[in-house]
Amino acid sequence: MELSKGTKVNLTAGFSATVIKELGRGGQGIVYLVQAEGKQLALKWYTTPLDEKFYKNLERNIACGPPSDNFIWPLYLTQKQYGSFGYLMRLRPEGYFEFGNYLLARQKFASINAMFTCAMKICNAFMMLHRFGFSYQDLNDGNFFIRPSDGDVLICDNDNVMPQGEKSGIMGKARYMAPEVIAGGIPDKYSDRFSLSVILFMLFFGNHPFEGAKVVACPCMTEQFEKSFYGKDAVFIYDPTDKSNLPVRGVHGNVIKRWPLFPSLLKQTFEQQFAKDCLAHPNKRMIEQQWQKIISKTKDLLIVCPHCKEETFADAHNEHNLCIACGKDINTDKQLHIDSRHIVLSAGTLLYLTDAVTPEGKTETFPSDNNLTVIRNISQNNWIATTPSGKIKTVKPQEFFPVINGLKVSFGQNAASNTAVKGEITVK
Ligand SMILES: [Zn+2]
Repeated sequence: MELSKGTKVNLTAGFSATVIKELGRGGQGIVYLVQAEGKQLALKWYTTPLDEKFYKNLERNIACGPPSDNFIWPLYLTQKQYGSFGYLMRLRPEGYFEFGNYLLARQKFASINAMFTCAMKICNAFMMLHRFGFSYQDLNDGNFFIRPSDGDVLICDNDNVMPQGEKSGIMGKARYMAPEVIAGGIPDKYSDRFSLSVILFMLFFGNHPFEGAKVVACPCMTEQFEKSFYGKDAVFIYDPTDKSNLPVRGVHGNVIKRWPLFPSLLKQTFEQQFAKDCLAHPNKRMIEQQWQKIISKTKDLLIVCPHCKEETFADAHNEHNLCIACGKDINTDKQLHIDSRHIVLSAGTLLYLTDAVTPEGKTETFPSDNNLTVIRNISQNNWIATTPSGKIKTVKPQEFFPVINGLKVSFGQNAASNTAVKGEITVK
């Protein structure tokens, strides 16, 4: 039943929550704003009957805690009362918008950079979820709330999260379900990985990877057609070996416009992940860490164009890099090398040095000398620079060093691999 204002709901943790007002409702239940222990929280209250197994699973997830800060995870379970039950979670903060709004262009990322940061955070969240032994089972565009300014992500509806290999009874949302789940299989981390690739593709290109000419030609989307287009007969719209499902002009405008602009590394990865072989063999799909590497490498190519100041891609290995916004050729003479990473230095570009979600450096033009490029330390740590003649200098936060050939800089430790991040500048 529905709860009215002022209703007290008892929690298994020994205190109670008081309903203030309804915040929204969905297929499974209603979300209320509640007051508990002096704090405002959200209560998800189920209006559909759910079994003991579901209740026990929620209890277990609460005890386990969130895999990362990006999850709006269940915090407290209610006792069974008023003919149902629910759980408390933190409120979604202001400034986050549902992923679907971005697909419909009602929301726009502040930058391509923010979009890639968002992708990294989604991959990281799912890596942590799988590391905790869970599978999400119901990954779809309604689960993500994204902040357009910096790409921060919150993942909601975590009540269907189950231990890997167990079935929540939720099969997932059509268009996001893996072919093997559509065919009757149980959702698991492999099917999550399929859904992750679909989400990433939609994030970058604004259209669905399997919605092309075949879907447009379909007179009426029946369950049978759905099983075919997203399941056993799925064809990636840019499958290099099968052109039967190409995107359609006037219908799939986003992907037609964006696909040619993105670096080939990213496009090849999607071609491979959505190839018929990978669709048919779940264990051939990339794990989240591999996606992170691809996105991180792509992020390294993202610079601010020196001519038009818009974001574009520049590969240090290419002889010519034409700006995707103004079409002019970009000078790649100034580069920062960190192991196998070759980053083109262009004023205005943020540099991700020890991880791919926190910018720690910024390439700038020196105010009193437009010919001099510098890298400013926008991290919290001291950097150690060694000049070509061997002089050692500390570059404190907010200070900068000049981009000169042969300069070596130690940027600190990479948190994930615990290795020193050392860079060298080259200027042709
Ligand atoms: Zn440009």
